[in-house]
Amino acid sequence: MSNSEELSDLRNQIKEVTNEIIRLVHNRMEIAKRIGNVKQELSIDVEDEQVENDIKESIIKLAKELGMDLEFSGKLLNILLLESVKVQNRKSDSHKISPHMAVFMKAKEMEKLGQNIFHLEVGEPDYAPPLSVRNELLKIYDDKKYHYTEISGIPRLRNAIAERTGYGTNSEQVLVTPGGRFAVFCAITSLLKPGDELINIEPSWPAYKECADFIGVKIRSLKTSLEDKWIPNVSKLENLVNANTKMIILNYPNNPTGKILPKNILDKIVSMSKDYNLFLLSDEVYSAYSFVDFTSLLEYECSKKITISSFSKTFGMTGFRVGYAISDKEIIRKMSSVQATSITSVAEPMQYCALMALESTIHDNVDLVKSRIDLITKRIRKMRTEFVYPDGAMYVYPKILSDVYKSDMALVKKLLENGVAIAPGSGFGSFYKHFIRISACQPETVLNQGLDIMERILTQG
Ligand code: PMP
Repeated sequence: MSNSEELSDLRNQIKEVTNEIIRLVHNRMEIAKRIGNVKQELSIDVEDEQVENDIKESIIKLAKELGMDLEFSGKLLNILLLESVKVQNRKSDSHKISPHMAVFMKAKEMEKLGQNIFHLEVGEPDYAPPLSVRNELLKIYDDKKYHYTEISGIPRLRNAIAERTGYGTNSEQVLVTPGGRFAVFCAITSLLKPGDELINIEPSWPAYKECADFIGVKIRSLKTSLEDKWIPNVSKLENLVNANTKMIILNYPNNPTGKILPKNILDKIVSMSKDYNLFLLSDEVYSAYSFVDFTSLLEYECSKKITISSFSKTFGMTGFRVGYAISDKEIIRKMSSVQATSITSVAEPMQYCALMALESTIHDNVDLVKSRIDLITKRIRKMRTEFVYPDGAMYVYPKILSDVYKSDMALVKKLLENGVAIAPGSGFGSFYKHFIRISACQPETVLNQGLDIMERILTQG
C-alpha cells in the first residue's frame, strides 16, 4: 500500500471510529434520560457523587490499562457527566430556581399583596455607604467622571487598593471588577476549561457552582459538618484531587456558616495546593467582619493564589457593584481579558466612589453586625437549634432539631406563611436540609419580630 493509500485508509478508519463514538454518546444520553425519569419518580436528587466517583474510578483504571492520558480521559468523562446532569435536570425543572431565590420571590409577591414580611434571608447590609461616597456622587457629574476607563480599573483606585492590601502588592496585581461575584466569574472562566475540575467546600455560597456549571467545569464538593465545627478535613480534600483538578475555592469568613479557618488548616491547604500545582481562589469579601483572628491568603507565598474582595459588604455598597481581585500579574492579565470581552470596565463614577470609601473607617458597621449576631444567637439558643457561634461574616447557620419540621423547606414555608423570610440551608448544599441561614443585615427590631415568630413556631412544633 502506498503512503497516500494508507493515509486515505486511516482517514476512513478515523471517520468510522468518530461516528461510532457519536452513536455511543447518543446511546448514553438516552440512558441518562431514562435514569432522570426514574429519579423523578423516586424524588431523588439528580446529582449523585458516589455514582459519579464509581464511574470515574473505572475510567481511570481503563485509561491506565490502555496507556491513555489520564487528564484527557477524565476531561471527556466530565463533559459526559455534565451533559447527563443537564438532560436529567431538564426533566425535573428543579435547577431553574434556587431555593433561596424562590423564598425571596415568594416573599416579594406576598408584600405586593400587602403582607408585612420580616426579611431575615437577605445578605445585604441595611446601612448606608460612608458620607464621603455621597459627596463624591454629588460631584461626579460636574467633574465629568463618566467615561470608559482602563479595563482593569482607574490607576488611582488600583494603587489605593494595592497600598491598602499591603504584602508588597502593586497595582498591576489588582483587577477592579463589577462586584466580587464578577471577580469569581473572571477567575473561573479565564483559568479553567470545560472538563476541568474545581474543589469547593460545602456549605457554600452557590455562585461558585453556578459559575462552574456555566462553562462546563466539574465541581467536586468537600462537605464540612457542624459536628466538626465546619473545619474541612484536609486528607479528604486531598483525596478529591485528580488529574483534572485545577482549582480549590476557599471562602472565609464563610457564607453561610461564619467560620474562619484555623491558621494551621489554611497552612496545610496552601501547601497541598502547591504540591498539586492548583489555583487557590480565596473569596474574602467578608474579611472586614472577622470577630477572631483572620489569616488572609495574601499572607502566603504562592504564585497561583487569587484573593477576592468587595466594597459591597465592607462599606454597605452592594448596588455600586465594585469588587476586586488580587493575584499574580499574569493571572490578572488573563482575568482582565474576560472583563475586556464582556464589559469594557467598571463604571467610572462607581470607581471614584470606591476610592472615597477606602478612606473611611468601618468599625461601626462591624460592631453593629457583631451585636446583631449576638442577639440572634442568644435568642435561637432558646429554640430547638444547634449551631457554632460565627467567627465572622453576617450570618448564623443553625441546625433545626424540631420533630415537626424535618426539612428546611417545611420550616421555611411555615415561616413565610407567618411573615418571616429565611434562607433554607439546602441552598448552600443539598446535604444541609436541616439548616437555615439567618442574616444579621436588618435592624434589631426587625430581627426580634422575626425571631419572635420563629420561636413561636419552633417551640410549638
Ligand atoms: N462572595 C460571597 C461569599 C458572597 O456571599 C457574596 C454576596 N452575597 C459575594 C462574594 C459577592 O458580592 P458582590 O458581588 O456584591 O461583591
